[in-house]
Amino acid sequence: MKYVLSLDQGTTNTRAIIFNGRGQIVGSAQQEFRQIYPRAGWVEHDPTDIVGSAVGVIAEALVRANIVIGDLAAIGITNQRETTVVWDRATGAPVCNAIVWQCRRTAEYAERLKGEGLSSFIYDRTGLVPDAYFSATKIKWILDNVAGARAQAERGELLFGTIDTYLMWRLSRGKIFATDYTNASRTMLFNIHTLKWDEELLKLFDIPESMLPRVEPSRGVFGYTDKSVLGGEVPICGVAGDQQAALFGQLCVNEGEVKNTYGTGCFLLMNTGDKAVKSFNGLVTTLGASETEKPPYVLEGSVFIGGAVIQWLRDELGIISSAEESEALALKVADTGGVYAVPAFTGLGAPYWDSGARGVLCGITRGTNRAHIVRAALEAIAYQSADLVCAMERDAGVKISCLKVDGGASANNFLMQFQSDILGVKISRPNVVETTALGAAYLAGLGCGVWGSVREIERLNVGWRQFLPALAEDKRQSMLNGWRAAVEKARLK
Ligand code: ADP
Repeated sequence: MKYVLSLDQGTTNTRAIIFNGRGQIVGSAQQEFRQIYPRAGWVEHDPTDIVGSAVGVIAEALVRANIVIGDLAAIGITNQRETTVVWDRATGAPVCNAIVWQCRRTAEYAERLKGEGLSSFIYDRTGLVPDAYFSATKIKWILDNVAGARAQAERGELLFGTIDTYLMWRLSRGKIFATDYTNASRTMLFNIHTLKWDEELLKLFDIPESMLPRVEPSRGVFGYTDKSVLGGEVPICGVAGDQQAALFGQLCVNEGEVKNTYGTGCFLLMNTGDKAVKSFNGLVTTLGASETEKPPYVLEGSVFIGGAVIQWLRDELGIISSAEESEALALKVADTGGVYAVPAFTGLGAPYWDSGARGVLCGITRGTNRAHIVRAALEAIAYQSADLVCAMERDAGVKISCLKVDGGASANNFLMQFQSDILGVKISRPNVVETTALGAAYLAGLGCGVWGSVREIERLNVGWRQFLPALAEDKRQSMLNGWRAAVEKARLK
């Protein structure tokens, strides 16, 4: 029996999941690690905590699966994207904490780039809209603010990596210094058309090229873990950023295939094949994972407040006691009675891009009760996702025929049926919802030969549940009109 271990290094948790050759989970382990908030709006991780948690969960998952390190055919890595580590090449010691993707410390600088009219220069090369999320401004911040860092970097003594790179470097004791296309495409330094680090961007951000890892296809042998770290030499054969790993785990490998992850926020990604689609709706263009050498292009959009609106109902309004309860409550009423919720708590993202928008709850009457409000909040997750799907369809010039779903809130059957109704599109929810981990496992399994091709993986048949649209077209249109009117209210200054 051959096993593949998927290391899923997320923003709050590190997990290891071991899959057998049939794609079934045989053991797993999870560890939370420290979130560090040095100032309002700043978020950091200690990279050493992350490596420690990774080594810990790998060992524990092996014990739980009752196998040993030598039984692993390969390791796959998927990770929180954009989070930035800079470390000393000689010692492996980070020069400061990792700056997490959520950290806003470089927001002002990113705004300045936009003000200087650099948006299209950056977008044309990287597919990204200048923002503090992406690694480039974070690396520059470290070089400009950590004492001695710039001089050291210029002497070639410092290395940069996203979390995948730092993990591989540490697990191999410095023998692997690499990343994959999907992670590179989130740094805002990588040219997604030439598939190379972009010299002009490096100049703009004042970052020495010697700091940057080599970039490889997501599937392939990156190198081997060192015996002194994990007790064995295992090939690392698959690497992808979390959202692209989920897209691959959902087997969205053909042009026009789409997945939506319903977590705290929602992440919608569409495979656009070999076409780098230019967005006119504020979506970003990025690189996906592939079983071949050539990465596909991907359109990506996100909903800021997805499942978080349900947490808000629970923690701030106190009208539900658990997220799960929202489903039964929503089904207690036939409809929202004309109530719409627009959870624009932090503004609205694509396709609106209105940072001044704020949440509204409208259409309330004397007969409105908490079930109506809960239902309206769940519907809002689906409406926002539908807005993104429409924006993607317009940009890519394709109509989607099926939406593949995953993430914590995709467990909600009411939400999934409503999503299908309001889009007029079939929804497919896999029985194994660990699609992020599965994606990294598939890449690693393909990289080491546990599976010969995606076709072979498709035959493993993990099973899924489908939701089919069952709403009359005139009703669908009138509900969408109501949603659009509510969004306009949220945007009133
Ligand atoms: P993340 O990876 O972003 O932390 P998860 O995929 O774990 O998120 O999903 C958690 C989110 O999903 C929370 O915001 C929670 O409110 C929401 N959620 C979980 N279960 C349900 C449910 N049954 N119905 C609606 N929302 C849910």
